[in-house]
Amino acid sequence: MSVLRARLKRLEPSHEAVRFASLLITVRDELTEKVNPNKLVAQGFTEKVAFAIQRGLRPLLEDEVLECINYNYFSELLEQVFAKLVEKGSVDGELEQMLVNLKSDPGYSRLLLKSALGLVDNVVPNVEREVLAHIVLVPLQPILKIINKVNSRLDKPTWVKSCLTCGMNYILGSYRGGFRHMVCATCGHIARVDFFYCPTCGTTDPYSMRFERSMDEPYFQIELCDKCGAYYKMVNEDILGNASEDPLLLDFATIDLDNIANSLKHRSG
Ligand SMILES: [Zn+2]
Ligand SMILES: [Zn+2]
Repeated sequence: MSVLRARLKRLEPSHEAVRFASLLITVRDELTEKVNPNKLVAQGFTEKVAFAIQRGLRPLLEDEVLECINYNYFSELLEQVFAKLVEKGSVDGELEQMLVNLKSDPGYSRLLLKSALGLVDNVVPNVEREVLAHIVLVPLQPILKIINKVNSRLDKPTWVKSCLTCGMNYILGSYRGGFRHMVCATCGHIARVDFFYCPTCGTTDPYSMRFERSMDEPYFQIELCDKCGAYYKMVNEDILGNASEDPLLLDFATIDLDNIANSLKHRSG
């Protein structure tokens, strides 16, 4: 994990998004220790998650799963997240307004969560949905771990288009034990996939995937689909350890690879 932490530090001065992510990671790590998962969701939560998965649904997008959350407690935790972000110098006026709204109505936390998951119209139009999701999901980290454990898809390749827990599109992936996986940058769900499979367009044509590896850091690889133009930032966990356990860190610590991927895209293959 230290390779990613060091990269994050190195990229901070030149990327505002990395500075924000770094702050969010600090806030998350402090909060996660204090969260009581038993207080956060009602009894029977795991069963409801399992039932949604059985029916082929994405559990984090299902009302019966979301209704298990104790929104008074969730709101309290989310307030702490926003308060820390505001206090530690994230001067975005939008965040301050969200904090004010949370304080006056705990039900606002439910609206923010649903907005972050794309289930209702965006209630904070000036904040990108991915960014909102990163913030709003901070208090739910222990819950996401439970959901993703029940929703494990590691035993055989799946044909996923987007995350099987939260529905977000893929940008990250990993190689582990010789297998290829897609990793959700938002909720951390991991799904094993075929070697030449592109989740965005569904192709399995070995000639449409380009694999670009860095000489200095052979544990990173950019995979670019020439059919649809999507790219994925892949990490070799057999070398780098459990990097996909912290997808937020993995995504922002490799923000420079996004630039490389985008320049490769314009160089036709
Ligand atoms: Zn997800
Ligand atoms: Zn594709």
